[in-house]
Amino acid sequence: MLRTTHCQFCSIVPPYLLLKLAEESADPEVREQAIATLQFTRQARVQRVAMASNLSVTPAPAAAPAVKKRRIFDCENSNDLLRTHVRKEGDAETADIAVNEAYDYSGITWDFFNMLAGRNSIDGNGLPMTSSVHYSANGKGFDNAFWNGSQMIYGDGGKIFHRLTQSLDVVAHELTHGITQYSAGLPYENQSGALNEHFSDVFGVVVRQWHEKEADPKTAGWLVGEGLMLAGSHYALRSLKAPGTAFPGDIQPDHMSKYKKLANNELEDYGGVHINSGIPNRAFYLAAVALGGPSWETAANIWYKTLTQRLKGTSSFEKCAYETISVARDFFDDATAAKVAKAWLDVGVISGTEGPVASLSMPVV
Ligand SMILES: [Zn+2]
Repeated sequence: MLRTTHCQFCSIVPPYLLLKLAEESADPEVREQAIATLQFTRQARVQRVAMASNLSVTPAPAAAPAVKKRRIFDCENSNDLLRTHVRKEGDAETADIAVNEAYDYSGITWDFFNMLAGRNSIDGNGLPMTSSVHYSANGKGFDNAFWNGSQMIYGDGGKIFHRLTQSLDVVAHELTHGITQYSAGLPYENQSGALNEHFSDVFGVVVRQWHEKEADPKTAGWLVGEGLMLAGSHYALRSLKAPGTAFPGDIQPDHMSKYKKLANNELEDYGGVHINSGIPNRAFYLAAVALGGPSWETAANIWYKTLTQRLKGTSSFEKCAYETISVARDFFDDATAAKVAKAWLDVGVISGTEGPVASLSMPVV
């Protein structure tokens, strides 16, 4: 089994969903495409791990001016990521909707993190944002999207999903994997890997809520990849509000009592990185609702500072919980910290008597 360390191959689709379709779909074409997508995903992961050894996660010391630099390449249904350079920063729209979506949504994600924290791109130092669209290895399309450690790659879907570029929260999810790579690291297995997925789901959703001005967390959309699945327009890949309900067969837990202890190679998911992320995901949703106001203000701020200033390397859910509570107290106040603590208590990650929680006056709800 391949192991990754700091950097990771991060696809949007939970592998267990593809495995299920490969085994159970009544449509032979869906089975074939699910198997092919799993196979290409494994190949891409191998490429990714080979590249990881050449990557530095330390930004250059001199800060570059914050200027967006987007580059979009058309794979033309091949696995050649840089086959044709079709759009660069400042170029007019093209006739290709996938090119325009990759360009626009990576720009919105850049704008969000710049608004939130003055961040200059994925690495904090002006890294050009490269996207390759129309990726395929067999000329039949690719039902996945991923961050490969240095750029975004999108398939066109076709048998299982619609075009993967069409979802802003999917694009923002993947680019957040890049930010994690350049900050906390969060090795992509077990709880630290599930936290890696968690931060991508959080910012995927928050970037979309920000763009769509969904200012009330109680009524905002909390789905990742809503409408992407061909099987049903109301299905999504994940729900932060109600983990385990995004699509038929969604197995995400919403509480530590349902934590799935999986071996590293089980369901091809590195110990459940796309599965157990449901637990911290629900904690973020509960915190955002309790804090009130737009998610991109207090809640996202606490989570961003935790990701970029407090977590480093392998981290447990409990460590993440305590750091968000600590950040809330350090940058806001005790009342804010108590609301964040309550969210983690409600999903069973912490108890009310230890660490920074013990000295807080907890809200009565
Ligand atoms: Zn991911």
